[in-house]
Amino acid sequence: MPTLRPLPQAPQPAIDSTAATLRAKGQAADPQKFAVEVRPSTIDGQGVFALEAIAARRKIGEIRGEAVSTAEAFKRARAAEKSTGRVFMVAVSHARSVDATHTTDPLRFANHSCAPNMVLKVQQGRVAFHALRDIAVGEELTVAYGPTHHAGRLACRCGAPGCMGTL
Ligand SMILES: [Zn+2]
Repeated sequence: MPTLRPLPQAPQPAIDSTAATLRAKGQAADPQKFAVEVRPSTIDGQGVFALEAIAARRKIGEIRGEAVSTAEAFKRARAAEKSTGRVFMVAVSHARSVDATHTTDPLRFANHSCAPNMVLKVQQGRVAFHALRDIAVGEELTVAYGPTHHAGRLACRCGAPGCMGTL
C-alpha cells in the first residue's frame, strides 16, 4: 500500500495574488485619497473633517460595505435606529444598497448638508465621494443625502442658508 506523503509545500503567494486580484478589479486596499478625521459635529453626532486641502472635483474616497437588497437595507436601517441610532446605508440603485456599518471607512460618517461640499457618485456598485468645490483644512465634509428612510420626518441642522429643514 502506498504511503501517504505530505504534498510538497507550495510557495505562499496567497497575499500577493489576492492583492493583485483586488488591483485587477480596481479595488485599492484603501480607497481613502485624502486625510480626514472623524470627530463630533455640530450637524449631527460624528462628522468627518478634512485634514488637508482638497481641490474641486478630486475624488476624496469611498465607503465600502456589504451589498444588500433595498428591502433588507430598510429593515436594517429601522433596526439600527432602534438600537444604536446610527445608520450607515447607501442606496446604489433602486434594488441595491451598501451597508457600511461594519467598515472603518471614515466617509461613512459624512453628514447631510443642504449646501454640501461633496457629491456621492455610484459606479458599478461602488460608492465614491468627490469634492464639489475647493475644500479647506478643517471643513466638515458633507453630502446631500437625497431621499432617506426618514421621509422628511427628521429635522435638518446643517445650518446652510436655504436649508430645507428636514431629511
Ligand atoms: Zn439643511
